[in-house]
Amino acid sequence: MRKIFTKWMLIAIAHQAFISVPVSAVELGFGETAAREIEYLSQNLAGRSVGTQKEQETVDYLTGQLNSFGYQPSLQTFSFEFGGQTLTSSNIIAERKGTSGKQIIIGAHYDTAPSSATLDRSTLQGTNDNASGVGVLLELAQRLEAETNNTVKFVLFGAEEVGLVGSEYYASNMSEAEIANTLVMVNMDSLVVGDKMYFHAGLPAATDPALGQYRDLALDIAQKYGISAETNPGLNPEYPKGTGCCSDLESFENLVPVLATEATNWDIGDLDGYTQTSNPNVPGGATWHDPATDNLEFINGVFPGLIEERTHDYTLVLDTFIDRVEAKPIPEPSSIVGTAIVGIGLLVRRSRKRKSLL
Ligand SMILES: [Zn+2]
Repeated sequence: MRKIFTKWMLIAIAHQAFISVPVSAVELGFGETAAREIEYLSQNLAGRSVGTQKEQETVDYLTGQLNSFGYQPSLQTFSFEFGGQTLTSSNIIAERKGTSGKQIIIGAHYDTAPSSATLDRSTLQGTNDNASGVGVLLELAQRLEAETNNTVKFVLFGAEEVGLVGSEYYASNMSEAEIANTLVMVNMDSLVVGDKMYFHAGLPAATDPALGQYRDLALDIAQKYGISAETNPGLNPEYPKGTGCCSDLESFENLVPVLATEATNWDIGDLDGYTQTSNPNVPGGATWHDPATDNLEFINGVFPGLIEERTHDYTLVLDTFIDRVEAKPIPEPSSIVGTAIVGIGLLVRRSRKRKSLL
């Protein structure tokens, strides 16, 4: 009897093993999908700069991934002049409709820096810049429930590395209604290599403190999870405290509130966020656009486990952030104070300008 029972159990287990059950995102740990996507993009789609065959393959691959997560992605195609030739690229847009009439935009660029006259970047994996942002975006898309309060629009930007072209195209084609309905644009660029995790607001938050509310929400969520994260300390007067720069957030920051995410170290180098780490094994403290260092092997060698750690932390915080952002048309008392200060600031700036014109 016992023997037969065991036999039946074995058959049951074997049967279960042969049933192909799609793995739900909920069953995967935070960061697992993101880390797998970072690996795939690094190993199979290196050198995905604008105008290349690899860029086309990347667009096809990412569209397919979003499809597999239940979206119907669309391409927003644009052309522009670069280096004496006309290039064409596309933003990939995937949307989940909510019920509030408001939306959150989650963006990351998928292209890598192009080759130059002196440096061949056809092998640039762009593991950090920006397979990491793309990986986290894909995982957030996979995790998003079928029914959401706010509409969430995922946008994978093309042609960031040649001057924020894709994000500029997207932003300049937003209707007045879309701008008014956008609560926040979240930009993710270079999330792994760097001594610290950061959350910033856009530059306008330097003079309008109310625009820092989404940065503060993200920092608050990180703290509640025991995840160490900071914002730009503002040690360099050209980059005001609490604000980020130098990526696709700049295309949106004068239209809607932004939350910028990155890993780097704003306390070292020229205090501009470009020096990522004080680790002596990273030449010059930065891996930006360098095929020899912005790749899986180098990053895993110098920072074992960091890809898994950062993808876990960023997906956990941002997944919670998406849930917590709510349509709140009535400003809180602190926002009203902030607006009043901005009003005065604008007057001061205008009078200064007038003075300089005389
Ligand atoms: Zn980048």
